[in-house]
Amino acid sequence: MIFEQNKSLLPYNTFGLDVRASYFAEYTSEDALLEILDEYKRSYAHLPLLHVGRGSNLLFLKDFSGLVLHSRILGIDELESDDPSEVLLRVGAGVVWDDLVSTCISHSWYGLENLSFVPGEVGASAVQNIGAYGSEVKDFIQSVECVSLLTGEKRVFQVEECQYAYRSSIFKHELQGQFAVTHVTYRLSHRFTPNLEYEALRTTLNSHGISVDTLTAQQLRKVVIGIRQSKLPDPKVLGNAGSFFMNPIISKEQFEQIREKYPTIPSYPINDTRVKVPAGWLIEQVGWKGRSLGPAAVYDRQALVIVNLGDASGADILSLYNSIRLAVRMEFGIDLQSEVNFILK
Ligand SMILES: Cc1cc2nc3c(=O)[nH]c(=O)nc-3n(C[C@H](O)[C@H](O)[C@H](O)COP(=O)(O)OP(=O)(O)OC[C@H]3O[C@@H](n4cnc5c(N)ncnc54)[C@H](O)[C@@H]3O)c2cc1C
Repeated sequence: MIFEQNKSLLPYNTFGLDVRASYFAEYTSEDALLEILDEYKRSYAHLPLLHVGRGSNLLFLKDFSGLVLHSRILGIDELESDDPSEVLLRVGAGVVWDDLVSTCISHSWYGLENLSFVPGEVGASAVQNIGAYGSEVKDFIQSVECVSLLTGEKRVFQVEECQYAYRSSIFKHELQGQFAVTHVTYRLSHRFTPNLEYEALRTTLNSHGISVDTLTAQQLRKVVIGIRQSKLPDPKVLGNAGSFFMNPIISKEQFEQIREKYPTIPSYPINDTRVKVPAGWLIEQVGWKGRSLGPAAVYDRQALVIVNLGDASGADILSLYNSIRLAVRMEFGIDLQSEVNFILK
């Protein structure tokens, strides 16, 4: 038996839910993963399988009656690149995402600054297509190395094959639950070209008296972290999974209808016919910002975030999510979708 039994998943979910996995296995190499998969196929194949990172985007609705896998494949290795202006890094899936960002900046490898302090691990970055402050990780990924959880075969996905979109990838949809990500190769730059597309970054830099002309990557990282800490609750203090809701994309006609009643509705054009609307704004309009339902609440500084006030269960959080969705649907005719992965088994 190479699996731990009845394992607490408290360290593997940032909602702070005290759920358990019937079986749990952690591995430090592809070979170790293959051994685990052999054992699973031999004796446990009737049970569901779930690969986790740090659980910063998971909502467990109950104990997981199956095998939970976690990668401890570490290492940040520089690969040879044909282009002297860029750096190729092959990174183990178990590396903590923000450790990678910080290492890159200290080596003058640039590109990931705006994604500073996003919780979680490298493996999940490629599953989730993490994004923040005008950057998305897909723009820095070259390839994703995986092992099939069904056959044990290794497969490398080039970035074009990953079907990346807003917080989405082939690993979240068509191939959901079928592959363990073992390594991700990122393509970064030796030249620092700050991405200041996001207005809050420009205003904060201004208010700190930092000029764009002399801005360093380390300063940008510090500003990003400062904004994040002022807006988002620390999961160690208040359990949460970051933004619970995705920003909905609606038709221009629907947007114009809503604007007749709500002239100040914010929007970001996607193309000639579609518009993105901030879910946080919609939630605030229907009065849920800062409100609680039992032991779960909508964070008072950011309506996109649902927090565990202490002893909420997955079901409590789900009830709040459903109440918010209903209110937004009744008022705006928009179906909010969750950004968080629900674990039902
Ligand atoms: C306070 C807070 C702030 C956040 N801010 C942001 C933000 O700004 N931008 C953003 O995009 N997200 C944000 N998130 C969400 C979260 O950080 C990301 O989704 C992150 O990528 C999840 O990483 P994880 O390692 O915790 O993965 P988990 O939550 O454990 O898993 C996420 C998904 O990836 C899969 N997975 C994980 N590891 C592997 C692997 N090695 N192989 C195969 N599948 C795997 C899981 O099965 C699951 O489907 C935030 C979360 C919190 C708590």
